[in-house]
Amino acid sequence: MEATNAATLKEVVQQKWGKRPLIIAGPCSAETEEQVLQTATELHKTGKVDIMRAGIWKPRTRPGSFEGIGTKGLPWLQQARKITGIPVAVEVATAKQVEDALHFDVDVLWIGARTTVNPFSVQEVADALRGVNVPVLIKNPINPDLELWLGAVERIAKAGINQIGLIHRGFSSYGNTEYRNAPMWHLAIEMKRRNPELMIINDPSHICGRRDILQDVMQKAIDLDYDGLIIESHIDPDNAWSDAKQQVTPAKLAEMLDNITWRKEDVASEEYHAALEKLRQQINHLDDELMQILGQRMKVAEKIGQYKKDNNITILQTNRWNEILERAFAKGEKQGLSKEFITKYFDAVHMESINHQNRIMNS
Ligand code: PEP
Ligand code: MN
Repeated sequence: MEATNAATLKEVVQQKWGKRPLIIAGPCSAETEEQVLQTATELHKTGKVDIMRAGIWKPRTRPGSFEGIGTKGLPWLQQARKITGIPVAVEVATAKQVEDALHFDVDVLWIGARTTVNPFSVQEVADALRGVNVPVLIKNPINPDLELWLGAVERIAKAGINQIGLIHRGFSSYGNTEYRNAPMWHLAIEMKRRNPELMIINDPSHICGRRDILQDVMQKAIDLDYDGLIIESHIDPDNAWSDAKQQVTPAKLAEMLDNITWRKEDVASEEYHAALEKLRQQINHLDDELMQILGQRMKVAEKIGQYKKDNNITILQTNRWNEILERAFAKGEKQGLSKEFITKYFDAVHMESINHQNRIMNS
């Protein structure tokens, strides 16, 4: 992607495509030359894809899974771009991977969630990028820590990279939720608020980990005014070598993009309504998250109930309850919450917890 060194990614994207949101799509992993070229051709046919993604080096949680085709896949991407004219993007995690990707003219690099957590790795990538003019997208770290995400942005910016974007791919959270990675929308919104000049792209594929809720998350991202989407798309999703459950065919991707409701923003009064709608959506997302967290809290209360039952201890322990309230007052006040609200809220939560424990203890 050509641009002067000083232009931000937002400006470059605006110049090149002049449309929003930016759509990045492609397989989780490049597997074979045929798969890459066929995917590229089908994505191109949709007319909706601006950049093609494909993982060449795959950071896998457990050894023994497919760890990426490696450097030999890079010429396939060059070929894909030659056929379609669509720029290509790959994940890099080491200096060698940066060198290889640049050697094969990869257009856009991204830093994966497992790399953003590690300042040593981010610094290694940053050092390898010094003096290079290439867009770099930085995924949020696996854990919900904005400082780490900001730190990665700063390291890459200090290496002289101006075209930086953010990718929100959700955060690892303990316990089962409907998502593979909990979106924690409020964190991404805060990151965007702190970095208004950076593009922010949503990655519904890694948030969802499954196909059936992708549409919903894409819509949320659009409603929250993200600048783009990065979505995994494979010609034969069920037989993909990695992330099979979350990938969709290029045709399905096109259908899902068509199903998105785009909010109008151009007319003055409509602008007002759209802004209001966005705020309401934010409230809805936050409320959804609160409900999910409250559900988790009740599950922990049930475990405590079981423990008390096994040890023959009473449900209500006054000292513990006072401690909970004191902590809440101290923390809540810092968040601008009134004592009255905290008392009412914790009373309700406490009653619900007792009911859950009661059910366990008397079962
Ligand atoms: C990927 O994009 O395929 C990937 C490995 O994602 P993440 O770094 O978000 O887990
Ligand atoms: Mn993936």
